[in-house]
Amino acid sequence: MIRSHSATTPTEVDVIRRLVRTLERRFPRRASGSVNERRAQELLAEEFERRGLSIAWQPFRASRSLYAVLAWHNAVAVAGSVVFIWQPLVGALLQLFAGISYLLDCHYRAYLLRRLVPRARSQNLIATLPAAAPVRRRVVFTAHADAAPTGWMFEPAFLYWIQRFAPQRPAILRRHMFGWLASLVVLSVLAVIRATTDWWWFPIWYGGLTLASLVPLVLMLQIVLTNRIVPGANDNLSGCAALVLLAERLQSGLPDDCEVVLVVTGCEESGRGGAEALAREMRDEWPAASTTFLVLDTISGGDLRYMVEGEIWPIEPPSELVEQIQAVARETGREALRAYHAPAGATDAAPLLLAGYDAVCLSRIDERIDLPRNYHLPTDRSGNLSCEQAVETVDLVERLARHLASDS
Ligand SMILES: [Zn+2]
Repeated sequence: MIRSHSATTPTEVDVIRRLVRTLERRFPRRASGSVNERRAQELLAEEFERRGLSIAWQPFRASRSLYAVLAWHNAVAVAGSVVFIWQPLVGALLQLFAGISYLLDCHYRAYLLRRLVPRARSQNLIATLPAAAPVRRRVVFTAHADAAPTGWMFEPAFLYWIQRFAPQRPAILRRHMFGWLASLVVLSVLAVIRATTDWWWFPIWYGGLTLASLVPLVLMLQIVLTNRIVPGANDNLSGCAALVLLAERLQSGLPDDCEVVLVVTGCEESGRGGAEALAREMRDEWPAASTTFLVLDTISGGDLRYMVEGEIWPIEPPSELVEQIQAVARETGREALRAYHAPAGATDAAPLLLAGYDAVCLSRIDERIDLPRNYHLPTDRSGNLSCEQAVETVDLVERLARHLASDS
């Protein structure tokens, strides 16, 4: 009797499906810095060890909730509007402080209001396929293990209308936080006018612009207080499972002096704490000149795109790296990958780029909604995942890694 090959050997699609389902079932609430985040990383560590990779853990501390950080910024801005009634200039100072705190915060330069948010212990799992010779090139893949909280803000109808009316160009106008900062600047100017003249035409403007902080404050508080965590099958167990396939595929055929590292980060959803720790701690061990980061996040459910980071102004991945991606896309007979400008938020590539590394995040975007499919929703379950698309993503990034590895 002839037994079919597939009856005994699981396909790569099966491997992804099994891993995502196991992680989803055993560790359903993988909040940033939680026990389940760590347990999911431990299970992945076993998978890497089984494939002969060496494991290291990198502990760090990071804020528990990005939405709490944003709520504080919005709250200080709203407080500024209240104080404005009696002391316009003091109100303006509060609003400028909220804006400056956010500017420093989202560029990982300094944390002011973030200090008010409790921090959690988290860790990065670092699995290495060592080079056989002194390292000339290092390709680091990363994927985050934690899952996002959900709330009213992610209601599909709400986001659909926001995205539908968002301007396509210039890219900066697509970014919500740019609009918020602009509202604070205008509020401050109005406060100065109020304090120095006797015009009285702007209370409606003042109230209207304050809504730019008040509405987000309510939405952020709702997320923080209800504390519901999504299953995160697409965002980002799909990326984590892809790392396991890459551990298998990249065992052979690479130059001796190329090191491949697979990192499962923690605390991405609470503000990219894992990638920030990675950039900080590995600075000496992984020189920027020889290291490239490929971030895999949400790799199922739409067209493969490369992300342009930046919460306020666009932060592009290096053009040579984008050219390499396009060369690989051409080789595999697909169209060139398009850039994606997220309306808000960032990926693990952001702190790495800002630390001077070559980095890019690859994600899949659902054309119809102009967002990742099931973005931060309870429907981000394994049943709604296209494991085939995850494997197709691995096909492209594996080729990309081989290109980068043979690059001098
Ligand atoms: Zn993600």
